[in-house]
Amino acid sequence: MQKKYLFFISAFLLALNFFMWREVFALNGPKYLKVDFLNVGQGDSAFIQTPEGHQILIDGGPGSAVLERLSNVMPFWDKSIDLVILTHPESDHMQGILNVLQRYKVENFLWTGIVKNDAENKELAFLLEKAQAPQNSFLAKLSNFRPTKVVATSAGKEIKAGGVLIDILFPFENLEGQKIKNTSNDSCVVAKLIYGNNSFLFVGDISSVAEKQLVNSGENILSDVLKVAHHGSKYSTSDLFLQNVKPKFAVIEVGKNSYGHPTPETLQRLEKFGIKVLRTDINGDVDFVSDGNNINLIKN
Ligand SMILES: [Zn+2]
Repeated sequence: MQKKYLFFISAFLLALNFFMWREVFALNGPKYLKVDFLNVGQGDSAFIQTPEGHQILIDGGPGSAVLERLSNVMPFWDKSIDLVILTHPESDHMQGILNVLQRYKVENFLWTGIVKNDAENKELAFLLEKAQAPQNSFLAKLSNFRPTKVVATSAGKEIKAGGVLIDILFPFENLEGQKIKNTSNDSCVVAKLIYGNNSFLFVGDISSVAEKQLVNSGENILSDVLKVAHHGSKYSTSDLFLQNVKPKFAVIEVGKNSYGHPTPETLQRLEKFGIKVLRTDINGDVDFVSDGNNINLIKN
């Protein structure tokens, strides 16, 4: 009896020890930034985890595919995301965000604030209004509930998440409340994610016109990884832009489509500059880790 009792005590101590060491390892172990370009079909979505554990989602792709992808990269019990960035309110970037807003607690929502008058944008406006409303229920108070903070952003804004910096480079002007009739591609949020000496450039669907404006702005757009604009459209990813971004890796988020994305012209330009191309339609999720000095591609 005594022996059995001792066994349980030591088993408990061993388990405790293990969990404590795991915590110590988490605190003192290597710190990595993880960036996962999610395979959501013909559209964009990237999930970022900072070394300090912040979670950031840039775009949500079409449909609800992002929910399944997120369940692979987030623990099942984790239903909150620190920051969601919507580059522009088009279906292939936004539909998944509508699903995320319904199922996750989004702490901060960053976009241009541009207004588009279709059913999906009306739903977005409704969901954002709901998420920003204060809640006075007992459960909300108990869980320290904070309404979602919605911010319309533009060039010059910076977001700090521990040791990671997100630099907003575009659009140059605040577009909050402005109406867009047709495409909003050249009003996308362009964001540079910086960790130590490594950086990732997220450009949404901008065309070579906005690319030129970015180059001329004199902003530092040099990046290790470029999220190729507009799913590999030939009207983006110009020679001028590639000469200035100088990426080692180019990620094309693309699925089955009738636009011919990615176009041979864009693929040839990337090849000409010796850039390693990864495509979500061929490679599936494209995942990188960075320790602030080196970027490594995680093989699927
Ligand atoms: Zn798109």
